[in-house]
Amino acid sequence: MTPQSSGGIKFSNGMNIPVELHKVRVVQKLHLKPVEERYEAIEKGGYNTFQLNTNDIFLDMLTDSGTNAMSDNQVASMLRSDDAYAGSQSFYRMEQAVRDVFGKKWVLPVHQGRAAENIISQTFISKGDVIPMNYHFTTTMAHMELNGGKVFEIYTDEALKIKSDVLFKGNIDTVKLEALIDQYGPEKVPFIRMEASTNLIGGQPFSIQNMMEVKAIADKYGIMMVLDASLIGENAWFIKQREEEFKNAPVSEILLTMCGMADIVYFSSRKVSSTRGGGIATNSEELYMKMRDLVVLFEGFTTYGGMSVREIEAMAVGLYETTDETVISQSPSFIEYTVNELDKLGIPVIMPAGALGCHIDAMGFLPHVPQKEYPAGALAAALYLVSGIRGMERGTISSIRDENGNDILADVELLRLAFPRRVFTLSQTMFVIDRVQWLHKNRELVGGLEFVEEPAVLRFFNGKLKPTSDWPQKLMAKFREDFGNSL
Ligand SMILES: *Cc1c(COP(=O)(O)O)cnc(C)c1O
Repeated sequence: MTPQSSGGIKFSNGMNIPVELHKVRVVQKLHLKPVEERYEAIEKGGYNTFQLNTNDIFLDMLTDSGTNAMSDNQVASMLRSDDAYAGSQSFYRMEQAVRDVFGKKWVLPVHQGRAAENIISQTFISKGDVIPMNYHFTTTMAHMELNGGKVFEIYTDEALKIKSDVLFKGNIDTVKLEALIDQYGPEKVPFIRMEASTNLIGGQPFSIQNMMEVKAIADKYGIMMVLDASLIGENAWFIKQREEEFKNAPVSEILLTMCGMADIVYFSSRKVSSTRGGGIATNSEELYMKMRDLVVLFEGFTTYGGMSVREIEAMAVGLYETTDETVISQSPSFIEYTVNELDKLGIPVIMPAGALGCHIDAMGFLPHVPQKEYPAGALAAALYLVSGIRGMERGTISSIRDENGNDILADVELLRLAFPRRVFTLSQTMFVIDRVQWLHKNRELVGGLEFVEEPAVLRFFNGKLKPTSDWPQKLMAKFREDFGNSL
């Protein structure tokens, strides 16, 4: 695949590095602590990177959720927020932004993405329903199952391949989709869900072509389309880069085309508009009315939905900025740089590069760690120990157990290193590449993990684990041997 240039910038000497298209104006001090202190921190956190305190972290690459940098205009907008329980002007500005950017008239605010999933699932899913989608997201599946639905992932054969040249691994397999609808009957399918920049398989986009084909099937059977737009900006950017027909289309137009095919669009503003909160939008008054009362019940009045008015203002500005290519290209171009460099070093990463982060294939990285000992979790803990970089496990720890109490092994074991928008610089990115390379050279030293405390729901957030041997001490000793007194 030809590498994309960094937001369109070419170097005369042929160098292919991403360029920051913004300047730093407010800074936050980071903490790069000695390896011994990081060892204490990860021990205390039960080898779960969610349990770390940012005071012990150098580069926080856990997630892009609520961690994107805000723009000057977003911060400025918060000053003019209109404090009102009902009818706040801030809400109407946000509503207008959703109309302009997503092309949807009726807007319900919610406190974050999963709140939208709660409301959509409660409203439309009944016991025994099946919900086809390109791939699940953790909170999506939890809410759908809570309401008695069953999630079916209808991805293409290529989607779970670590290294591939297929540019749209987030596509739905339309043949399998139709077979599923025929098998259960369309009356059992309340909607088809498409997730932009499919999070759990490496931030992989779907194409407009694919969405059109899925939409045609949905129309044929009279089934609704629901679009999870939490990462829609990046998906639109990839469409522009990778789908011939749209290479000259403005991102704003691509966004409207995507949303235009969905009956309901919902989003986490923590991702798409770099603030907090979320929303549900539709052009159908009937659908809006079906969901509205649950917003009042679970979130707050329909003009704030559990958000502060300051957040709502920043969300409006952030939504408009999602149509700005210099904003949405930043994270994908840094991810692509990292992915290509790691690939050159022989480190297994998900290719082509996707949205939200660089995804390292933990089973390829640590082939000696059996999947039941959670290689992705072990790799996350090991990388933190040797670098202060916090990534997130996206593998079997993020999965669940079956009725007999056995782990349902994840399709892929990934260590995700998220690149929140406009947060890290190129030298920090090079530090990441260096430490991952060092860990790869010393990968034999990394062992597995086992649970010591395991919550019944979404266990990856608050679960505690321990190493299956004294491998962390050995890894720490090797770090000292190679790096001396360096941090
Ligand atoms: C983060 C995310 C959600 C959930 O949003 P929250 O704001 O974290 O509740 C839902 N879908 C996708 C694709 C996401 O990335």
